[in-house]
Amino acid sequence: AKGAAMVTAVASRVQAQRKQIDKVLALFRLTQEQLVGVQDKMRAELEYGLKRDTHSLATVKMLPTYVCGMPDGTEKGKFLALDLGGTNFRVLLVKIRSGRRSVRMYNKIFAIPLEIMQGTGEELFDHIVQCIADFLDYMGLKGAQLPLGFTFSFPCRQASIDKGTLIGWTKGFKATDCEGEDVVDMLREAIKRRNEFDLDIVAVVNDTVGTMMTCGYEDPNCEIGLIAGTGSNLCYMEEMRNIELVEGDEGKMCINTEWGGFGDNGCIDDIRTQYDKEVDEGSLNPGKQRYEKMTSGMYLGEIVRQILIDLTKQGLLFRGQISERLRTRGIFETKFLSQIESDRLALLQVRRILQQLGLDSTCEDSIVVKEVCGAVSRRAAQLCGAGLAAIVEKRREDQGLERLRITVGVDGTLYKLHPHFSRILQETVKELAPRCDVTFMLSEDGSGKGAALITAVAKRLQQAWKN
Ligand code: BGC
Ligand code: MG
Repeated sequence: AKGAAMVTAVASRVQAQRKQIDKVLALFRLTQEQLVGVQDKMRAELEYGLKRDTHSLATVKMLPTYVCGMPDGTEKGKFLALDLGGTNFRVLLVKIRSGRRSVRMYNKIFAIPLEIMQGTGEELFDHIVQCIADFLDYMGLKGAQLPLGFTFSFPCRQASIDKGTLIGWTKGFKATDCEGEDVVDMLREAIKRRNEFDLDIVAVVNDTVGTMMTCGYEDPNCEIGLIAGTGSNLCYMEEMRNIELVEGDEGKMCINTEWGGFGDNGCIDDIRTQYDKEVDEGSLNPGKQRYEKMTSGMYLGEIVRQILIDLTKQGLLFRGQISERLRTRGIFETKFLSQIESDRLALLQVRRILQQLGLDSTCEDSIVVKEVCGAVSRRAAQLCGAGLAAIVEKRREDQGLERLRITVGVDGTLYKLHPHFSRILQETVKELAPRCDVTFMLSEDGSGKGAALITAVAKRLQQAWKN
């Protein structure tokens, strides 16, 4: 009888614990109604960003990019491209051949040490130019004077294709004396300081725009670029008549939405959890990029970590012991989340991954960790889908179409590596924008190739002007 009582006691304790865990997981489950709410709010914020009267206060900045057309296949030449702001910093040589629409690329990845990401602007740009020098050397191109396209994946206010004033750093960057400055000027000055080669900087491009361009090179229906990676953002082709910040009503221009800032006015606080708030407070840019912090690779692992800490404090995980590792920021990178959530992985392997991360887990722990990861990444994909649904619906309405067919060029480690993110994102868009047929096209190396394509187009137009 005593044994039976003990079994019952254990069973009811397990049940109580399960309840507590479910309570936390439930915070991340969004109803259809909540998702529609997010979609509607995103739509409203997009409109504010486009309008002259509301633009300055808008959290979704809707930045004109001065990219007005897609490559037409006549572009050709050799270009250098820089890709700064994603998982890796890269320098690329891109050779475009006209007619056959073939592109060849050579690239090299360079590390940007933390002390440079968060040092002075001069140091950062000197480092970039050092990497360009190494690359030119490596490619045997020293002294070559090539046109350069700069993929700079941060919010920039542009007055032309070759000017971009950094509004504010995002993600892991925080170099001083850059905000409010033209990053093209900063790059030019760093090249001058080195006094070793000359480059013709033709275009500065957001990674979303590069991605859209790359996919648009193959599919003219591609009028949206989406990044779900370290950061989160989207660009799309908008009617000039709707862009109040730029003169002219004819044709279209690509708008860099910078939707990562959605929610910075508190409009989605009803769905933010205490964990989201903790992640925000511990970040380099508290209060900013709230939607990005719920949807992108740099932060999902941090949300997971905050939840695990809380569950451990409640005695529901890791025998109630918060290890030093668990206290360490940034341990759950996208690749670990992706591994943990892989369906093919046995729990034993989940435990092995946690072990690698320095976390000692029981089998029960590993089940809970996997559930937590799933809840966080599912919500991220759904939120991202709700944002995308707002854009495609807007495009459909603006064109007065019964149905819209549109292609989205996509890049980013979260989209590409995570086992469920892309599927859930696509399902959400289907549900929230049923009158749009959205095709998703993975971009092969969007940021780099796209910067070269845009540079090629800009060069072609420059030449046309001169003649
Ligand atoms: C930046 C965007 C960028 C996105 C994806 C965000 O943090 O603000 O400009 O497109 O990350 O890299
Ligand atoms: Mg990238």
